[in-house]
Parts: sequence; C-alpha cells; structure tokens
Amino acid sequence: MAKTGMERLQELKKEIFKCIHCKACKFAYSGEPDREGIGEYAGKQGTVLYEGMVDACPAGIEYGWEAFWNAGKIWIARSILTGDLEFTEEVRDVIMPCITCGQCSAQCDNKIPTVDIIESLRAACIESGVPMIEKHELVDRLVKELNNPYGGKAEERFKWAKDAGLGKYVDNKDAKIAYYVGCTASYRQIEVAITTAKLFELLGMNFTIIGDEVCCGSPFFRIGAVDTAQELMNKNLEAFKNVKMLYFSCAGCYRTFTIDYPKWMPEGEELPFKTQHAFELVARLIQQEKIKFKPNKELKGKVVTYHDPCHTGRHFAVDMEQDMIRESKNLLIDSRKIKEKIEEWYEVPRIILRKLAEDVGIVFKEMYRIKLDSMCCGAGGGVRAGYPEFSLRTASLRCDEANAVGADILTTECPFCWRNLSDANDMYNHGMKVMGILQMITEYNLLDMAEKPKEDDFLTPSIRDIE
Ligand code: SF4
Ligand code: SF4
Repeated sequence: MAKTGMERLQELKKEIFKCIHCKACKFAYSGEPDREGIGEYAGKQGTVLYEGMVDACPAGIEYGWEAFWNAGKIWIARSILTGDLEFTEEVRDVIMPCITCGQCSAQCDNKIPTVDIIESLRAACIESGVPMIEKHELVDRLVKELNNPYGGKAEERFKWAKDAGLGKYVDNKDAKIAYYVGCTASYRQIEVAITTAKLFELLGMNFTIIGDEVCCGSPFFRIGAVDTAQELMNKNLEAFKNVKMLYFSCAGCYRTFTIDYPKWMPEGEELPFKTQHAFELVARLIQQEKIKFKPNKELKGKVVTYHDPCHTGRHFAVDMEQDMIRESKNLLIDSRKIKEKIEEWYEVPRIILRKLAEDVGIVFKEMYRIKLDSMCCGAGGGVRAGYPEFSLRTASLRCDEANAVGADILTTECPFCWRNLSDANDMYNHGMKVMGILQMITEYNLLDMAEKPKEDDFLTPSIRDIE
C-alpha cells in the first residue's frame, strides 16, 4: 500500500526539523568559469548581477514573500506537522508555484531533501480535500482520459515516427532496447523525437518504441497527484517489462523512471530494465573513439552554451549524494568521493560539447551559473501548466544568462526545457537558436563513425550504475 502524503511528511519530520532557517538555500554561486564581461550585461528584465552569490530560488525571485522561498515552505511543512497550520487554498497557492528545481536542496549544507518535502506537502494538501488549482485539474483530467497531459489522441502519439520514415521501430518486437519518447517530444517538440530516433538508427541500434507507452507521470508526482502518477507508472511498467535497456531524450521522464518509480513500486521489487539518457551513449562512444564529428561551415565559430536540465542535473546529483550519505561509514572521507561522482556526472554532456568544439569548430562557452548552481528553465513542477507567466519569466532569466556569454545557440537535453527556453527566447527577443545537442548532431549531419557500435555498447549501463 503506497504511503500518503502525510505519512511521507511524518517520515521526513527529522529532516524538516533539521532546517535552521539560515536561508543559505536562497543563494547560488554565479561567476565561474568565464569571468569576462561579469556584471556588465543588462538582461531583458533589468540588470542581472553575475558575480558572487545571487538569488537562486525562482519562486522567491518571482513572488518575493518569505513563504515562497524554500525556507518558508519548510516552515509551512513544520507547522502542518505540529498542527499550527491547516491546509487551505491559501496554503496551496504558496506551495504550488515552485518549480521543484532542487536549487534549494543543492545549496543546503544540512543536506535537507527539500524537493521530497515539497512534493509530500503538496500530496498531503490534495489528500486533505483542498482542490487542485484549475489548470492542474485540467491536465489531470486529460491524462486520465488520454494518457498524456496535452490532450493528444493516443493514435497520434507516434505519428512523427511514421511521417519521418521511422515507423518500423514502433513495436519492433525483436529489440531488447527501447526508446521512451515521452509526451512533450511526441506531441510538441517532435524534432527531439525524430532526431533522437534517427541518431539511434545511424548508430545501428536495433530499438523499439513501445506503442503502449503512456505519460511517465512526472508532472503528477511533482504536483502531488500521486494516484494519477502511480496509475501511469503501472501502465508503463507493464508496457516495458520485456526490454533490457531504456533510453530517454527527456530529462523529466528519465528522472521519473529512474528515481520515482523504484520508490513507488511494491517493496522488494526492482525496475526490470536499466535506464539512461541518449546523451550518455553518445558521450561514451566519443570516449571510446568510436564516433567523432565532421567539420561544418555553418556552425564554425558559433558560440554554443549549455543549459543543465534540473532533472538530469541536480535531481540525479542530489539523489546520488543522498544514497552515498546513507551508505557512508565515514562522511569526512566519502564527501570527496561524492563531489567527484557529481562532477563526473555533470561532465557527461560536456564531453559531447567539447568534441563538437574540437571537430566542428563551435565555440563552447559555459554560462555563469552551471551544474549544481545552474538556473532552472522554469518549466517543471507543474509550473508551466499552472503558472505560465512565472514559468516564462524564469526561462527568460535563463536566456539572459546565455545572452550574457554571447551565445548564438542555447543547447539543452530535455524537450520540456527546450520548449520553455525557446518560447521565452521568442517572446522576450533573446535572439538565439535553442536546440538539443543530439538534435544539432543529426540535423547538421555531423556524425562521423570510426567504428560501428555493437549491441553491447548500447547495453552498457549508465555511469550512475557503475560503482
Ligand atoms: S533548507 Fe537548509 S539552507 Fe535552507 S534554510 Fe533550511 S537549513 Fe538553511
Ligand atoms: S525547488 Fe526551486 S523553486 Fe522550489 S523552493 Fe526550491 S529553489 Fe525555489
């Protein structure tokens, strides 16, 4: 029997009471590694200060009041547990506009799992009888009816594959490897789905796209609609039970299958497959010198920067950190190992970007806030659906950061980040091209194969799974 939001909050009580309200989670470090131009760039929404510690929490930046910053939400959780506060629509309207970006948990030296706390708080709020906000009710209804929150018809989920000549991979029965496409790439950013599937084809991977795939449930785990999320999880676990390796192009789906599903599955049960993002495969093949890239005149000299999606970045980093802390016998010694593992993880997409710089001639330039300090794109946690203005203003702040380093192209590896950054880029006239790294490789025909990968290369586990 799955735990209720209130039971999860009770379990997190010790963590909640560990919060000393120091508000260090309010700030992130901005400035390295490229200090040129620091403090000179005025963003589209006013001057942006780039050096030193800057305000980090998008919800706090947007709404300003104490309760909206993370420390305020932890205080709300504490007051609910002590009985000093009850769930009301007013409380809901404070805890819902949070992107669950994890910036606060990454910054907290007390290692408080703030995203788990906020998600449990939201689930407990819904269970208490407070209605969801209207826009969340709508996506909840749509996913229950159609298995996706966009209102797309089930039979059109893989239309992009048929239109792009990739139809043979839909329900390809003899493949052990599957590509989980996700709702955003299936119904909105189909470029991501097409270019990922084409890249797999170019690499010679025998893969399948499962026709019974449904929404991964990410937005519903995040907003506290846990029953809906679990139903979707059970459908996916049934649909993918016969595959060995599951590849993703969406950071949110990858996080949900890898971190959420094992937590919500019956005790003692494990995922029947391994998971990894497509960028991990490409980085591995580069390191093994099996692939390189062709020079490209159009891209040569273009400044390219990279946005770390919160779901592949901080969420995995914090999860790895929590696992290692739990298993550690000597945290003093192990804290260095934790740091190294997180650094290694964040380097994976950068292996591809550095190789693109070397072979293709792009100029890879990091933004001022990267990795654990990276600013969120504003799309997650049910915020894009529920609070679109806040969501797009946050994306525009991130576009400002890309503008500040002179980026011609802003890359990321998540269709949901891609969509929000791209919309803000257009709406606020940031003047960049927004695209995925793998999309760039396929669309500009950059792949140059030195040695054709074998099936074992595709089945090699993620570095997350390697001790
Ligand atoms: S969550 Fe951590 S960093 Fe934030 S106020 Fe509490 S103890 Fe301080
Ligand atoms: S998860 Fe992100 S938006 Fe939410 S409180 Fe933490 S830093 Fe702010």
